Amino acid sequence: MARVYNFSAGPAVLPEEVLREAAEEMMDYQGSGQSVMEMSHRSKVYDNIIKEAEADLRELMNIPDNYKVLFLQGGASQFFAEVPMNLMKNKKAAYIITGQWAKKAYKEAQIYGEAVAVASSEDKTFSYIPDCSDLDIPEDADYVYICENNTIYGTKFKTLPNTKGHILVSDVSSCFLSEPIDVTKYGVVYGGVQKNIGPAGVVIAVIREDLITDDVLEGTPTMLKWKTQADADSLYNTPPCYNIYICGKVFKWIKKMGGLQAMKEHNEKKAKILYDFLDESKLFKGTVVKEDRSLMNVPFVTGDKELDAKFVEEATKAGFVNLKGHRSVGGMRASIYNAMPIEGVEKLVEFMRNFEKENA
Ligand SMILES: *Cc1c(COP(=O)(O)O)cnc(C)c1O
Repeated sequence: MARVYNFSAGPAVLPEEVLREAAEEMMDYQGSGQSVMEMSHRSKVYDNIIKEAEADLRELMNIPDNYKVLFLQGGASQFFAEVPMNLMKNKKAAYIITGQWAKKAYKEAQIYGEAVAVASSEDKTFSYIPDCSDLDIPEDADYVYICENNTIYGTKFKTLPNTKGHILVSDVSSCFLSEPIDVTKYGVVYGGVQKNIGPAGVVIAVIREDLITDDVLEGTPTMLKWKTQADADSLYNTPPCYNIYICGKVFKWIKKMGGLQAMKEHNEKKAKILYDFLDESKLFKGTVVKEDRSLMNVPFVTGDKELDAKFVEEATKAGFVNLKGHRSVGGMRASIYNAMPIEGVEKLVEFMRNFEKENA
């Protein structure tokens, strides 16, 4: 079996242990005589799977009782619409634009009301997080929206913005479960799972209970109304059963690894190996302001497009795959999510060191 080191930004690497377990249970899930893909989402055995997944997530993230956990579909991109549909009572919201995903969410919100860009780092190709300590947030804004970890550009909010009492909505797709967070600071925390948790097709949303109401924008489809999903415990219709089952396995794997604090230390250690190398390298250089560097997505360049392409090609041949940067920024990007082992990063750095010598 030849497994590669997969640095994809998403869908991304999953823990090998989880994949093996899933393979073992493929034909017969715990004596049920069926695969999880084949069973009714209304069955007792599936009910246990989804309930246990929620309970484990609640424990990992220390989610208070007044927050609901929803397993949804449509990707993070559909959630860009769900946020204004469910929260825009005054038809006004403040958006902090730190990259393409935040910008897409902002544009989507403009369909439903007045989305105000209160800060942006577009002036420097989103290579930093703007100062959000004293923003000009409209008094009647329904919420303040951020993308907490910018998958494409490799920046991360190290401190949350001062929302001046407004509800904070955060897209954590690419930093979900990478470190502990204080859920009580948010109204809504959500993300697609295909970056750091599981197979594409599930969005997990953690939403403060009082924000889940019947008072949604006119015309909101039943399925996109959080109340519908919350009242049905995410089983209003057929959920992505198998994908939720894999997410549940990843939650158990993280628990076994020591929880989110241990995950954070593991991620810091991994990221440091790569960033330290980028800081000393004469060929490669990171593209992000040091203070705002992401632990999950590490973009870098050589400064020469042809050399970048040569690097990506040779790295691929050596078993380090999906290192090409996002099509909008070029260069390289190593996504080093929870499931990337430390050896993967150590070996990548060794490979980069050799490439640098050979191409000096
Ligand atoms: C990948 C990503 C998205 C888009 O996710 P989809 O599930 O493909 O819609 C949104 N936000 C962030 C931060 C992402 O990394």
